[in-house]
Amino acid sequence: PDELFLPPRLILDDMLRAQKIEARLSGLVLSGPTLRRICDVFHREVEAGLRQEPSSLLMENTYVPELPDGTEEGLFLALDLGGTNFRVLLLELHNGVLVREDVKQYHISDELRLAPAEDLFNYLADCVLDFVTSEGMEKEELSLGFTFSFPMKMHSISSGELTTWTKSFKCGGMEGVDVAALLQRCLHERNLRVTVRVLLNDTTGTLVAGAHTNHDVGIGMILGTGSNGCYMERAERVQHWEAEHSRVRDVCVNVEWGAFGDNGCIDFVRTDIDREVDARSLLATSFTFEKYIGGKYLGEVLRASLAALAREGLFPAEPVNLVTADISAIEEDWVEGGTARTLRVLRQSLAKDADVSLTLSDAIVAQHVARLISTRAAQLVAVCVATLLRRIARPHVSVAVDGSVYKRHPRIRHLMPRYIARLAPNHPFTLFDAEDGSGKGSALTAAIAARIAAREN
Ligand code: BGC
Ligand code: MG
Repeated sequence: PDELFLPPRLILDDMLRAQKIEARLSGLVLSGPTLRRICDVFHREVEAGLRQEPSSLLMENTYVPELPDGTEEGLFLALDLGGTNFRVLLLELHNGVLVREDVKQYHISDELRLAPAEDLFNYLADCVLDFVTSEGMEKEELSLGFTFSFPMKMHSISSGELTTWTKSFKCGGMEGVDVAALLQRCLHERNLRVTVRVLLNDTTGTLVAGAHTNHDVGIGMILGTGSNGCYMERAERVQHWEAEHSRVRDVCVNVEWGAFGDNGCIDFVRTDIDREVDARSLLATSFTFEKYIGGKYLGEVLRASLAALAREGLFPAEPVNLVTADISAIEEDWVEGGTARTLRVLRQSLAKDADVSLTLSDAIVAQHVARLISTRAAQLVAVCVATLLRRIARPHVSVAVDGSVYKRHPRIRHLMPRYIARLAPNHPFTLFDAEDGSGKGSALTAAIAARIAAREN
């Protein structure tokens, strides 16, 4: 058997308890054959999505037809919306190189993330006004790139509609609304002479930003609060076009793999724990794959797993709160051979008045479960990347990666390439950290759009 796919063993003094825990959580362990089966399903969904047939994958045309070539010039505003903070940036490019970057972060409250979309976009425009005023540029004409890290049906490189909110956003009134046009109107109402030139996803920004340092980049991916990827596809294989494209050879396609399996096609990996995580999430039954891998959910998967063990007397109490940073801390402890940090995290995760004593074995159990969960996450993301690599079929492909889970989790970034290599043998690749795809990538994409427009006029 392939050792890479063997589940980690749980070793406790109480062997019976260890066996029962392994049996209870066996659904979280994916074998080599199961992962290959998921690869096959993913591949079929990719093809169906591109052909505009029913698929859980959006496979959306981004209308970004080329990557930076080192001629990108100009001053750009960039907006980055997707997590809990909203960033406004002023970027200056000279020969494709960033020569200036001013950034300001604005907090987006819980209320605003659930408020009517008008309120959210008015707030975004207020932030832009505040930012350009602090730069002394409120009278200037500026081009803007909007990195909107949610699934969109695109009409052009600068217009598109939200298909559904994800992560922690759920603002009403977005149906049939053009995201860029709504932002544009709010900016005009503030007398700003700012024009929205591109509307893009953070994965596209990551791919574009990564192309600057690695010329053979073919995939951009985010493993953060949410997870998703995009890649350069041959234009002739893309069916959805709302623009003239006879001269376009390749185009960036946004996969939206967070929704993989929402149609039931990989229900064979779904456990009762996953169903519980989904049911308790803000947007139940939607983006179910993201709930196996995204930083918004991994802590919750650990909480639900330990709670399931507790209900069967295999763990001392049901934790009430665990976040993904806790999983990272627990696994760092494991890597270092300790348990003190794990015990501290577990103690904090319990109800304040819980009268529970935690033992060394409990810490070992929590470390084991955390490892099962992050191994599964690494494997599932590897399935997507491996399938895309096989599809791109180039001698070597660089994969630009960004996101908090990739950057901060102690094991996932090391596990992923091992699983990808096993699932896509003979497809050499390198994963590399892309710097600020949402900011720099958005400015570069705006510059690419300007270049194309100039060429066509
Ligand atoms: C969104 C994607 C985004 C990803 C990473 C997901 O929830 O649907 O559009 O790329 O998060 O931010
Ligand atoms: Mg981001």
